[in-house]
Amino acid sequence: MALKGVVIDAGHGGADPGAIGNGYQEKNINSMMADYMFNRFNELGIPVKYVRSTDETLSPKDRTREILEAYGNDPDVLVISNHINAGGAEGAEVIYALRNDGQFASLILEGLEEAGQKTRKVYQRRLPSNPSKDYNFLFRDTGVTEPVIVEYGFIDNAKDINRVVDNAEKYAEVVVKAVTDYKNLPYTAPGEKNNTAFTYNVQNGDTLWSISKKYNLKVDDIKRANNLINDTLKIGQKLLIPITNDESNVYIVQSGDTLYAIAIKNNISVDELKKANNLKSNLLSIGQKLIIPNNSKEVEYVVKAGDSLWKIARLYNTTVNDIKKFNSLTSDLLKIGQVLKLVI
Ligand SMILES: [Zn+2]
Repeated sequence: MALKGVVIDAGHGGADPGAIGNGYQEKNINSMMADYMFNRFNELGIPVKYVRSTDETLSPKDRTREILEAYGNDPDVLVISNHINAGGAEGAEVIYALRNDGQFASLILEGLEEAGQKTRKVYQRRLPSNPSKDYNFLFRDTGVTEPVIVEYGFIDNAKDINRVVDNAEKYAEVVVKAVTDYKNLPYTAPGEKNNTAFTYNVQNGDTLWSISKKYNLKVDDIKRANNLINDTLKIGQKLLIPITNDESNVYIVQSGDTLYAIAIKNNISVDELKKANNLKSNLLSIGQKLIIPNNSKEVEYVVKAGDSLWKIARLYNTTVNDIKKFNSLTSDLLKIGQVLKLVI
């Protein structure tokens, strides 16, 4: 489920205006959506290329060639083709290729519905003369890439098209968000660049304390971000991990990086890196954000004669409060032979 890159297509263009109605030409609305997305993907550090950034005429052959040349013929390339419908109906439709399931298309349609647009359906369409093939050349001639055609609304329905134009940025943002959800990439809302968040799946043995240590956070930060009223976690529970202040614990994947190289550089294991980011495979995509977990380990310490919390804290470069919190101690008194959990 890695992402090699997003290819943004603004449907039609130049001599081909697409659908026309209510004073609008489809090609211009498509460009407006595409421009917005292009900037946002750049802002999020997600690799993105444009098929048509100016008002030029592109033959179907040129268009599909540009799509395939952008990041290669690869199933981890998402292609978003922006369109406006015609036919007098109302609402959005998302079309997907015969080679894909409808997951990505459904994320987009659901998002548009949440954003206030009327929605119709996600669907596939077959070529009547050869039903094993896609009806749309944009699907038929784009190899194994994963394309969707998003029809935001109907240009010949005044109410519908005015709603699309009024909410163009909002609806385009839905598609951006759908890409990050679908590819499990960190998402930040527009204008909130420094306040990103990351979803963590609770594993067996996790506590709020151990998770907060891993991400250099306070337990309260995690509780607040997730509206938790107590400290109880369930395995498989999804927690939002807020990344505040600086992004020193976030690494953006560069060309040529491997999980192994990043792990070595940060003095952690590949497994730790994969676990912290819920990665199922070793594949990385350029621009992907990786959480670099704190290289801390839990150890057990057996209290010896002469030990104090303060001495142990000094020894392990932690604080008395952290030790007390981690071990649920209510006083500073220690007993010889008592076992303390420490994070080192
Ligand atoms: Zn169109």
